[in-house]
Amino acid sequence: MIIVMVKGATKEQIKHVEDRIAEWGYGAHPIYGTERTVIGAVGVPEADKMTYVEQLESLPYVEQVISVMRPYKFVSREYHPDGTRVDVRGVEIGGNKIAMMAGPCTVESFEQTLASAKAVAKEGALILRGGAYKPSTSPYSFQGLGEEGLKILKAVSMETGQRVITEVMDPRNVELVCQYADILQIGTRNMQNYDLLREVGRAHKPVMLKRGMWAKIEEWLQAAEYIMLGGCTDLMLCERGIRTFETATRNTLDLSAVPMVKQLSHLPVIVDPSQGTGRWSLVDAMSKAAVACGADGLLIEVHPDPEKALKDGAQSLTIPNFKKLMEELRPIAKAIGREL
Ligand code: PEP
Ligand code: MN
Repeated sequence: MIIVMVKGATKEQIKHVEDRIAEWGYGAHPIYGTERTVIGAVGVPEADKMTYVEQLESLPYVEQVISVMRPYKFVSREYHPDGTRVDVRGVEIGGNKIAMMAGPCTVESFEQTLASAKAVAKEGALILRGGAYKPSTSPYSFQGLGEEGLKILKAVSMETGQRVITEVMDPRNVELVCQYADILQIGTRNMQNYDLLREVGRAHKPVMLKRGMWAKIEEWLQAAEYIMLGGCTDLMLCERGIRTFETATRNTLDLSAVPMVKQLSHLPVIVDPSQGTGRWSLVDAMSKAAVACGADGLLIEVHPDPEKALKDGAQSLTIPNFKKLMEELRPIAKAIGREL
């Protein structure tokens, strides 16, 4: 870390900071400027750093403490320079093939889930999405079928041969959801639910962590670090749009986060253009853009009859529109050396 002293800091004050650094067992490398002194501290272990930064910043003659290391380690690109390939019972995510996860926003019934699953499986979606526990801004809207929904997902996936991704919202339900799901989804509203992150990290299951709608990339990666610290190695991230001043779309789908995160981290990145835009008519264009900018997979809401959907009908693709999207995505994937 680098400690910037205030203008005019005295020799004693500089000496005090150097002594503190030495006391912690690290090397102090001062640069005495004519106006300002800057001290480099080397060898500070990650775990202690935040405490030291805060202690130094409490001194009135320290202007700023800059941390040169990233506040996460296991999710950083340096930890796995070649990138991670997540294994979902034999389906690989993060390799050359772009993973398609598609299905209804919410599990409403066996018939509705089966109709979506069969249709998307036919087009090549190896992973079925569907919410059994639905996080809702309004406590009055449909909250999902719970365990009944999980049972439907399992039964449907047995018929189609797909893997299942579904959201877990409560640390107390992790074990239960693990019995039915192949990938545990952490929703945007829970990105900073650290107890939940720790619990899914310990579950020995693939996990997909959505970006908090308010979260900076660094905070998102720190949340991912919690999951990896629990022992999870099959982790992926999902960009699902963030809140901005814009209201024409439900969220602002931050596609620049895809190449940014891929530079910073080894984890596969999935894009969710459904929550990302909130409009079915934009899902097609944003899916193509996501593939073009390097996404490792897409999470797309598809409903056999969006007009009757209990949730997110406005952003759900019809089955024919999903089929058309898949056809149009193939040449884009090919153009960047990947396949669908
Ligand atoms: C969803 O995938 O249906 C969902 C609720 O996602 P998010 O957490 O991104 O809102
Ligand atoms: Mn949804």
